Amino acid sequence: MRKPIIAGNWKLNKTVEEAIELVEDIKVKTMDLDKNRMPTVVVCPVFTAIKSVADILERGKGIYIGAQNCYWEDSGAFTGEVSVPIIKDLCASYVITGHSERRQYFGETDENINKKAKAILSHGLIPIICCGETLEQREAGRTDDIVKNQIIADLQGLTEEQVAGSVIAYEPVWAIGTGKTCDSAEANRVIKLIRDTVAQVSSRDSADKVRILYGGSVKPSTIEEQMSQSDIDGALVGGASLKAEDFAQIIKGAMLVSSPN
Ligand code: PEP
Repeated sequence: MRKPIIAGNWKLNKTVEEAIELVEDIKVKTMDLDKNRMPTVVVCPVFTAIKSVADILERGKGIYIGAQNCYWEDSGAFTGEVSVPIIKDLCASYVITGHSERRQYFGETDENINKKAKAILSHGLIPIICCGETLEQREAGRTDDIVKNQIIADLQGLTEEQVAGSVIAYEPVWAIGTGKTCDSAEANRVIKLIRDTVAQVSSRDSADKVRILYGGSVKPSTIEEQMSQSDIDGALVGGASLKAEDFAQIIKGAMLVSSPN
């Protein structure tokens, strides 16, 4: 049984004060939910707000903190970077890596993403490894190859246990921030392909355990159908995670659908 995850990526939004306001609102709107049935909920603020958000949330009681990026070295002459031990010190448990915006605007490669995933896991945190095709790649019929190759490269050298404990997010680039959601059955098909690829490069057991999320314009109105798919274990939510009411509705929607696994 894979425990579902709903993770909010706040991207480059919210001052510390605004982040505190948002997380307090999320906390209030989710506090009456049955903690035993609730998915793992993760919020990923900007680095500067992580500590303040963590101080408001009680870890282990439903809502965890994630960072949106990290560097793979622990310390040293790497001006402007933030390492995994420093993120851990802020009480974060998850780190997003390989988000398409980082691939697109910051030149992040699968080699970088693999180094980051290894660093995250070596410090006992959980990577949320993102993959997904662009519109151009989809229209050229290259979706499966692109996604498979990203996963093979991103997971290279990870132990079976590390793979099983990781989270993967399938995020078609054309669906991110566009309001265009990928058809749920199609998202499930690609996620199954990702799971089969994990089985090939790691093991069937780790493939059955790794949680694979869908991301791309997830909204309260789409989550139930997405969560009712056999292989979708949750969602990575951008825009809708910035509105406490929408994020709470997405969590509630995920709880209405019991995972078939
Ligand atoms: C994201 O940033 O990972 C994302 C999926 O964004 P949105 O939900 O806004 O499409």
